[in-house]
Amino acid sequence: MAKVSINLATGSIQKENIIVGIDLGTTNSLVAFIDPDKNPKVINDTGKGVLVPSVVHFGAAGDITVGNEAKGFLITDPQNTVFSVKRLLGRSYADVKNYQNFFSYKIIDDDSENLVKIKVGDKFYNPIELSGLILKELKERAEHALKTPVNRAVITVPAYFNDSQRQATRDAGKLAGLDVLRIVNEPTAASLAYGIGLNPEETKTIAVYDLGGGTFDVSILQIQNGIFEVLSTNGDTFLGGDDFDRAIADYWIDKNNIDKAELAKNRELTQELRLKAEEAKKAFAHQSLFNEKIGDIWCTIDRNTFEELILPKVQQTITACQNALKDAKLTITDIDEVVMVGGSTRTALVKKMVAEFFGRPVHDGINPDEVVALGAAIQADVLAGNRSDILLLDVTPLSLGIETMGGLMDTIIPRNSKIPTKAGRQYTTSKDGQVNMKIAVYQGERDLISENRKLAEFELKGIPAMPAGFPKVDINFILNADGILKIQAIELRSGVKQEVEVKPAYGITDDLVEQMLMDSITHAKDDVSARMLIEAKTEAEQMVYTVERFLEKNGQLLNPDEISETKIHLEALKAALSTGDKDLIHAKIDELNNFTRPFAERVMDVAISTAMKGKSIDGEE
Ligand code: ADP
Ligand code: MG
Repeated sequence: MAKVSINLATGSIQKENIIVGIDLGTTNSLVAFIDPDKNPKVINDTGKGVLVPSVVHFGAAGDITVGNEAKGFLITDPQNTVFSVKRLLGRSYADVKNYQNFFSYKIIDDDSENLVKIKVGDKFYNPIELSGLILKELKERAEHALKTPVNRAVITVPAYFNDSQRQATRDAGKLAGLDVLRIVNEPTAASLAYGIGLNPEETKTIAVYDLGGGTFDVSILQIQNGIFEVLSTNGDTFLGGDDFDRAIADYWIDKNNIDKAELAKNRELTQELRLKAEEAKKAFAHQSLFNEKIGDIWCTIDRNTFEELILPKVQQTITACQNALKDAKLTITDIDEVVMVGGSTRTALVKKMVAEFFGRPVHDGINPDEVVALGAAIQADVLAGNRSDILLLDVTPLSLGIETMGGLMDTIIPRNSKIPTKAGRQYTTSKDGQVNMKIAVYQGERDLISENRKLAEFELKGIPAMPAGFPKVDINFILNADGILKIQAIELRSGVKQEVEVKPAYGITDDLVEQMLMDSITHAKDDVSARMLIEAKTEAEQMVYTVERFLEKNGQLLNPDEISETKIHLEALKAALSTGDKDLIHAKIDELNNFTRPFAERVMDVAISTAMKGKSIDGEE
């Protein structure tokens, strides 16, 4: 039961538990909530419309506008108008430099490993701040429309978003003054809006086709026991309704014999043509001919021509659907439902081709540009405790682990693990009296950490001095439902503890994930032999260390011959170490081991007799 109380200031009903659902889109963003009748509803703040274009404009006087008003500045003030910021969220300059031309605003490349920054006027903004501005606008609209403070939200992200992009989305929410309770995958939200997955009894496999303004993705989800699992995703981050607009604009440019070089200099006209083209595209929902003018430029096109122009693009999305099925190891007949998402699925040809491909009618009953936000509101309602238990589940794309001796990767959570998940392992120190332990967290499939991606590094400090191998350090990885990783390290003997929430180094691309997986396959054989060599070397180094310590501490228990022969074995092992021959190293380890084993027994005997003596003295007293 949601609590209801009266807001004394406004006299309105205060919905204490209100949690809104937010679709933070590349092109458009919007916010939805569950109305008192328990229906999800998009928020339409009086006269402003439902969709808030994801555009931010910075005025000369320091004024900031977001949404429709800002969109107008794309024509008149493009350098100070930021759009498509979602593409930059959680990305490094290295990730985006190949499409710098796409943006009309300035992207800074001061350090290619760092977060992208955007320069507007003489100020710098990062994509988190910019997304935060959009979220703040949505929050304010919701507060205005609902007449109640809104502090909690569920925000959606594409299924292919990686940890750092999800974290960046969370951070953006925080900046906007929102407590982000959950990051939910867009296809999951869309399914929820259609009521798919709400019944914990049902098992279904569904395809969610999302064609937005500038991006396309298709996800195959499996829903079982109210758990959503992403089986695969595919798509193209540079394919969407904008391409349709561009196709129409190019067609007009051609028909009107407009000089392309001249037009390139005229940003304003270019944008005007694009906006007119978008108008034409939308008009085809209810008419088959569009006929208007910009000045003396004829902007005429019929629906058939439009469909011919966009056919190759739509075909591309169908190929992606095919690939998604293949990756999920499924065929068309395995798909129970197809859900349409994104404003561009209003285009009749898109709907037709998707339905034909899957051989079934598609779900398109809910407004495709609202469906994600509506689903997010349902998820918010679930979190508010107003619905039966629905869980959201994803899979980690890459393995997570830590660096162990010799620079080897020790995987703790293997790739494709369902999240949320928790896994751990016990480690120890390698040096006597070691009081600090470095814990370096990596992501990737390779045996060597140098080939993987570093996520974090911290030190467990204050381990009481003990001989090497004595401390017991439990390292636990907790990957929560949002894909955010918490690492806990605890030394069990002393209780010394350290916990770190990974802010993954920003900027991993889908391409990179794919590349990392490919590399792990092509290098599998080399990696195995590299690992074996490193393990041999580590063991040898540990052995050298132990024996040298032994000679220092217990040298008096050995006779001079034993000492010199031990040293000969030691030198032989050190020499083997430098050859990089794993078999030779193992042979020398064995020799040294066999030779020194009796000494260890001698130490034990001495220790025991000392202890006995102590006891007897004690006994006499
Ligand atoms: P995103 O998820 O990328 O933020 P949306 O789902 O809001 O994007 O989709 C925006 C795209 O939908 C734009 O390219 C817009 O032109 C297109 N669109 C909106 N309405 C229609 C329509 N009636 N017909 C065709 N395309 C449309
Ligand atoms: Mg969208």
